[in-house]
Amino acid sequence: MSRIVQKYGGTSVGDVERIKRVAERIKAVRADGNELLVVVSARAGVTNELLARARAVCPAPDERELDMLLSTGEQETIALTAMALHGLGVPAVSYTGAQAGIRTDRTHTKAKIQTIEARRLVADLKEGKVVIVAGFQGISEHGHITTLGRGGSDLSAVALAAAVKADKCEIYTDVDGVYTADPRVVKTARKLDEITYDEMLELASAGSKVMQSRSVEFAKKYNTVFEVRSSFNFNPGTIVKEETQSMEKVVVRGVAVDKDQAKLTVSGLADKPGSAARIFRTLANAGVIVDMIIQNVSRNGLANLSFTVPQSETTKADAILQPLLAELGAVCTIDDSIAKLSVVGVGMKTHSGVAATLFQSLADARINIQMISTSEIKISIVLSQDKADEAARVAHTAFGLDAR
Ligand code: ADP
Ligand code: ASP
Ligand code: MG
Repeated sequence: MSRIVQKYGGTSVGDVERIKRVAERIKAVRADGNELLVVVSARAGVTNELLARARAVCPAPDERELDMLLSTGEQETIALTAMALHGLGVPAVSYTGAQAGIRTDRTHTKAKIQTIEARRLVADLKEGKVVIVAGFQGISEHGHITTLGRGGSDLSAVALAAAVKADKCEIYTDVDGVYTADPRVVKTARKLDEITYDEMLELASAGSKVMQSRSVEFAKKYNTVFEVRSSFNFNPGTIVKEETQSMEKVVVRGVAVDKDQAKLTVSGLADKPGSAARIFRTLANAGVIVDMIIQNVSRNGLANLSFTVPQSETTKADAILQPLLAELGAVCTIDDSIAKLSVVGVGMKTHSGVAATLFQSLADARINIQMISTSEIKISIVLSQDKADEAARVAHTAFGLDAR
């Protein structure tokens, strides 16, 4: 007997037929004598619909109320999943995040899980009930409903797996696992049998939305091995786990594209100590996350500074910088027609020439590079958004990742 945590994403519970199919799968796993805790997302599209509705009644909705609204998507699917199981004669009970004991901090819309009081869930599991928990949500110490950031049901699942000491954590989605690139963009992408936490984390934060990046961070911290696999078939998925020596043999594990980025360029900045510090301090104080930064050589004592931020933050970043830029005599321009392409692999630590191969492949395809940044296991570049998909395919081929 094993204790298994399964998470079903939005497409997997997209309509009543699919919910019934998920219930059948759960029934079969339980019939094999396993204890099952199931995390479900809202039906695909529901969270976006609710967000749009919130913005229709108020352009900048209050974040507490937003969490109150967004959490309802998952509340629908937990109840329906439990009912579908009852219909099959399987004992099941659904819990909201709060009822499941998921305590978070107070950061509405991107709350962090602090503790999980799992005693009630474990008691139910021991009684043979299938426990269904709403993903993406928790409750703050002051009793307010919070949500865990987009894609946050992945985090709910990984955190619950650690809390109930599950033997297995399975993330069910609409593709067979983690691929060398988004299979919807790169048709030749290959499913990976395994990937390290660090690689998955870099891919997720570089735009591969197959796993929420914070969930991978959590899994790494608690060494929660998990498998990403399809809810539509029984193919083996991708195991995400700690690095082993043999995994370093592969130089580039995967390619990711992030189109949700914008580039801000501050020009006419006096080239003297303190200018950059003041700009990035102002952004940091407002909670704006800056990714890549590049400063060009100054001319006549004036420099240009470019950096990228998530597209949703451009207006805010521009607005908070204006008073400072006026004081510094600089101006800011925004380019939201960019994208970020990243190649990731733990093998980069021990192999050279990765950057050269990437840049050559883009040069051969006549794709211009606007910015470059590197880390130990990742190289990212900024390029024009309309070239991003082509660049992903070109890089994928250059690193020998294409399916044969
Ligand atoms: P769920 O609703 O199950 O959480 P998501 O839509 O959040 O599913 O994530 C699954 C999607 O992630 C896939 O449909 C796929 O298009 C996309 N994706 C992006 N990059 C990758 C990748 N490297 N491997 C697999 N899927 C990827
Ligand atoms: N329903 C939430 C979202 O769409 C959480 C999730 O699906 O993981 O972001
Ligand atoms: Mg998801």
